[in-house]
Amino acid sequence: METVAHLMEKQRADQREGEQRAHENAHERWEEQRECPQCGLLCQLPPRYPGLVADCPRCGEVLWRMRKARRSFPLSCALGALLFYLFALVAPFLEIHAYGRFSVARLSTGPAQFLAEGFGLAGALVFAVTLVAPAAKLGLLVITLGGLRILPPNLLRALFRTYLALAPWAMIDVYLLGFLVAYTKLTAYAVVHLDTALYALIGCMLTMAAADGSVDIEQIWRTLATRAAVAKPAGHVSLLSCHGCGYLNPVHDEPGQHTAHDPHCQRCSAPVHARKPDSISRSWAFLLAAMALYIPANIYPFMVLTSLAHSNSYTIFGGIIELAQSGLWPLALLVFFASFTIPLMKIVLLGYMLITAQMKSKSLLRFRSHAYRFIDFIGRWSMIDVFMVSILIALMRFGQFASVHAAIGAVCFGGVVVMTIFAVQAFDPRLMWDAERPFYE
Ligand SMILES: [Zn+2]
Ligand SMILES: [Zn+2]
Repeated sequence: METVAHLMEKQRADQREGEQRAHENAHERWEEQRECPQCGLLCQLPPRYPGLVADCPRCGEVLWRMRKARRSFPLSCALGALLFYLFALVAPFLEIHAYGRFSVARLSTGPAQFLAEGFGLAGALVFAVTLVAPAAKLGLLVITLGGLRILPPNLLRALFRTYLALAPWAMIDVYLLGFLVAYTKLTAYAVVHLDTALYALIGCMLTMAAADGSVDIEQIWRTLATRAAVAKPAGHVSLLSCHGCGYLNPVHDEPGQHTAHDPHCQRCSAPVHARKPDSISRSWAFLLAAMALYIPANIYPFMVLTSLAHSNSYTIFGGIIELAQSGLWPLALLVFFASFTIPLMKIVLLGYMLITAQMKSKSLLRFRSHAYRFIDFIGRWSMIDVFMVSILIALMRFGQFASVHAAIGAVCFGGVVVMTIFAVQAFDPRLMWDAERPFYE
């Protein structure tokens, strides 16, 4: 009898061990799984292999771009970009001579001039996206990469999350295109000299792009997570994907286990939700605000040019026609696309996505996913015209001979761009795919 009891005991121990192992394996699989942020499909991440791009098999969204460069490469690029930026901050980037007078523009001149002309909101917007956001983004990246083994992971996680959120708002590249348009307009009225800060700004743009393009985001999150205690799931759990870092968090399903607060991501400490909270209504609110501003932005002039007692007001469309009439077709097309097509396309496409998501339509899901990624990527390029005005009002200050003043259209147009970016960010594209495979089954 003793042997039978012994065998039964051994069997129970084996069973417990098996359950334990299955539990641990399940945990390991969770660690390597991602919910596609575009379509909500659960995907298994492959082991890291430098150069490999892991994408979603259903919608093609990139889940993990495994970078070849070591961590020191983006760090040195970001440091270089920060130095270029500091130089561009203090040095002048453009000088013009006209009517026996002389005018110099620095990065900060445009926002200051907006403010002086009573358009503080537009000034604050230009100031935020050309001065604050790039500096903050680069600084955060340098601290995160440089302090990875030194600083407390809690701090680094918050810094890296902010870096990722700020990334689309650092608009040095768009600013340079706005500069190109302003430059061609200025040459018609004055002798223009490009100054050192312009080259520094180009250097800043290139090194910043190199830094962004070589940071392995998932790998950094993993480095930050290994130093933190990740709680193992126990009991009945469901998986919630983190909007900040993509980690799948096991969250207790039992009613008794729910806390009053939103659960937080175990890897980056951001609040986690099944879907972005109030996504549809927030997105509609921003979209309606953008639509309301789109009309005055196109009807009212966005700048007034006074030249030798002649006063000309330019609407967005008028500016495009003027560029075309001066024979600058490539620039006319660029501005037409950036200022007219993109905002309209964003409003129409996002409206279509919101309506189809609310109707739980299953049609054209792949197309809608691609369209969402496209408008998300392209939105910031609409700022070209606002930057062009900020450069022109900073430089063309020759009294009655020639001067440019901002007008209300520029403020409305800046509002359209910001509202559409917010609307796209508020929308959760997984809601479209939920029609196909409901999340709450
Ligand atoms: Zn997907
Ligand atoms: Zn997270």
